[in-house]
Amino acid sequence: MSDGLQYLTVKSVVPKPPFVAVLLKTDTFAFMQNNLVDVIIIGGGPIGLACGLEAKKTGLRYLILEKGALVNSIYHYPVNMTFFSTSEKLEVGNIPFVSNNPKPTRNEALEYYRRVAVSGNLSVHLFEEVQAVKKTDEYFLITTQKQTYHTLNIIVCTGFYDIPYLLNVPGEELQKVKHYYNDPHFYAFQKVLVVGAANSAVDAALETYRKGAEVTMVIRSAAIGDRVKYWVKPDVENRIKEGAIKAYFNSKIVAIRPKEVDIQTPDGLLTIENDWVLAMTGYQPNLSFLSSMGIELGEDAVCKPAYNETTQETNVPGIYLAGVICGGMNTHRLFIENSREHAEKIVGDILGKKSLKS
Ligand SMILES: Cc1cc2nc3c(=O)[nH]c(=O)nc-3n(C[C@H](O)[C@H](O)[C@H](O)COP(=O)(O)OP(=O)(O)OC[C@H]3O[C@@H](n4cnc5c(N)ncnc54)[C@H](O)[C@@H]3O)c2cc1C
Repeated sequence: MSDGLQYLTVKSVVPKPPFVAVLLKTDTFAFMQNNLVDVIIIGGGPIGLACGLEAKKTGLRYLILEKGALVNSIYHYPVNMTFFSTSEKLEVGNIPFVSNNPKPTRNEALEYYRRVAVSGNLSVHLFEEVQAVKKTDEYFLITTQKQTYHTLNIIVCTGFYDIPYLLNVPGEELQKVKHYYNDPHFYAFQKVLVVGAANSAVDAALETYRKGAEVTMVIRSAAIGDRVKYWVKPDVENRIKEGAIKAYFNSKIVAIRPKEVDIQTPDGLLTIENDWVLAMTGYQPNLSFLSSMGIELGEDAVCKPAYNETTQETNVPGIYLAGVICGGMNTHRLFIENSREHAEKIVGDILGKKSLKS
């Protein structure tokens, strides 16, 4: 591989199914000793990397499976995005993150986590999505679109950025409706409607406005969100006050057509001309993936997965949760800076069990 990442030659560690079948029939013990990994980490985000570093440090046989690019969620953040955390709070494995800015940018974070993977010599398989997890008496079988793996433990750190909340209005299927915002230049001199009032919506509104877009915000509540970065909030509020950005509060978008949108406002239904809709209404974790493995979810709206807060182990022995996924639908509770500690807890627990067995 030319990108500097060392890729575990999984074939030498985990045989393909026909080979496994032969081994299982003839010498299960040898297979368990030589060809089984201790832990497979599902998700190569910052927390997956933290878990990989910790597993490697303690001598566990591990592999990270990532469905997209390295730190795929961050890769899909807006190109000009700035973190709210300072760089040292985004560090994993005590590897220093030096940023040129008070708050690091997306590009700096991409470079940092790529360097982490290289310097940590991490075993990562990219563009390999885990599609199913099955438990046998002795281990877990993990199926991706490429092959099947065998592992004693699993750490699920799949984040929350894969499934956008939909507007559920007519016209949402049109190409002009985007649930992920990327680069403001694209929207120069266009009529842009931004739905939402949290960080992503505010960043998209300000950036596209500054590239010459005619921006309208549609906001369900009566004000810009409380969690908007403290140095950005006055900026958007002042742009709204001076009329540079038009905002409809206590309002919602009700229909989208190729050249216009309908907005329900407190003063009645309004139709405005429109080229693009940026639906910045948030994202939700793939909780059905957790259910499919037998992980129990809370019955209220948060659907918090069942896990032990000391060890991070779920109700399915051997399956652990790390990172933002632990919060269920409450995706604001955990983020990089306060969930990187999960790695140590989980690996400590796996090692503890291992030493009990040996
Ligand atoms: C705009 C924005 C700004 C933010 N700023 C900050 C900040 O300043 N500070 C902070 O601490 N947090 C911040 N966060 C939150 C932070 O980015 C997330 O909490 C963080 O990415 C969580 O890390 P994670 O590893 O748990 O999940 P993720 O980074 O989402 O990683 C999960 C990974 O799992 C992969 N995956 C999913 N399903 C599968 C599958 N079936 N098989 C294989 N791989 C799979 C995904 O592709 C992804 O790469 C921000 C978030 C956003 C959206």
